[in-house]
Amino acid sequence: MGFVKFLGTAGARYVVGKQLRYSAGTWIELGGTRFLLDPGPGTLLRCRKSRPPLEPEELDGLILSHKHLDHSTDVNVMLEVMAELGHKGKKGVLLAPRDCLEGDDPVVLKYVRKYPERIEILEEGKTFEVGAVRITPVAHRHGDAETYGILFDSSEGRVGFVVDTGLFPELPRRYQGCDLLVLNVVRLKPTPEIDHLSLPEAAVIIREVRPKLAVLTHFGMTMLRARPHELARKLTEELGLEVIAADDGLTIEAGRWKR
Ligand SMILES: [Zn+2]
Repeated sequence: MGFVKFLGTAGARYVVGKQLRYSAGTWIELGGTRFLLDPGPGTLLRCRKSRPPLEPEELDGLILSHKHLDHSTDVNVMLEVMAELGHKGKKGVLLAPRDCLEGDDPVVLKYVRKYPERIEILEEGKTFEVGAVRITPVAHRHGDAETYGILFDSSEGRVGFVVDTGLFPELPRRYQGCDLLVLNVVRLKPTPEIDHLSLPEAAVIIREVRPKLAVLTHFGMTMLRARPHELARKLTEELGLEVIAADDGLTIEAGRWKR
């Protein structure tokens, strides 16, 4: 059965810098196909320390939602490890926005680009087939960084990741049909100038999408101080939908959203 494992749940610079939560990415296994979304600092380490073990050599794909370092720092080492150091030829897929690969400040080193079997550039309107999963990028609004949320469609239903973004009117509609909806909720209160979701904005999306399970993650200090589990419990009551807060290492099996 498929599952999603949160190797890290840190959001803002302070939480990442102090490692108050781990800043590793999310392991997503659906229909036997394995992805790592947003390999921030410590992703390789958290895979190796995971119990039961998660072997990055078994990954089919690495996905960058955008280039900010809390989402991308470990991408280079993970590309090398996914391809088993190149010993068995090229392996795996990298999906990333164009500015992660081109322009004057790409985060994917050129010398590791020989490792994956293919490199796909995320763009609005495109879909990508990887193993048993269809991937659809959703254009977000996140400052200067080209950013995409991700929809994963497979026999295990629709899983959506609302990564870093400001809220805009069309956003909730793009995540319609999600059985599991994961949202990066950095701030407790709206701060429109920073293009990050706050708790009330996340609630707007959850209310409209009505997933079977919503998971809050990627917390900044204001969220951590307010106790994410408490906040999730209140949202569950308010919305009449199950909302939980991720902890480092939280694993959610597909049975929880396939009901
Ligand atoms: Zn960001």
